[in-house]
Amino acid sequence: MPECIICYKDSNEETIEHIVPRSLGNIHYILPKGLVCQICNQRFSKYEHAVLNSPEWLQERKKFGVVKNTISNEMTACREVDYTRFLLKVLYESIYFSKNWCMKEYNFENIRNELNGYGNLKYTLFNTKGLSTKKSIPGLIDRWRLKRNGVQLNYCFREDKIYFEMIYGSIVNVITTSIV
Ligand SMILES: [Zn+2]
Repeated sequence: MPECIICYKDSNEETIEHIVPRSLGNIHYILPKGLVCQICNQRFSKYEHAVLNSPEWLQERKKFGVVKNTISNEMTACREVDYTRFLLKVLYESIYFSKNWCMKEYNFENIRNELNGYGNLKYTLFNTKGLSTKKSIPGLIDRWRLKRNGVQLNYCFREDKIYFEMIYGSIVNVITTSIV
């Protein structure tokens, strides 16, 4: 049985994990079956739901035609903990899938722990401006496909930190945390 890359427990092989949520139009950028267990997958769905149904994201999703109406009963500002874990999930899974060598060279345990719900990660979140020096995490084809849906995932390492940038349309988020 395969092991979940988040909680290290045995994983249900039928679970498909979208690295970038399907509700942003992504159908190709996914992890092979079984790499994320159903329990972790369900936990991540809650973070995604909170972020994607916040006013800012709903408005942007409407521009890309992946949602019809920006008016939702659940339309509330997203809690920072959900926002952070949503970004960290995309960071962890995209690095695992597209830049796996980073997993061997740096220490992603603190990020993995946070994704398991321990909640003591030290990080900084920026949503004012993006990174000036950066590289794409997804390779050429995935990058192109995601960009059609308005999504860009970038990273860089500086000193003992990883900087992760997720762009969706006009929304820019950068999260940084230690990887030593
Ligand atoms: Zn798991």
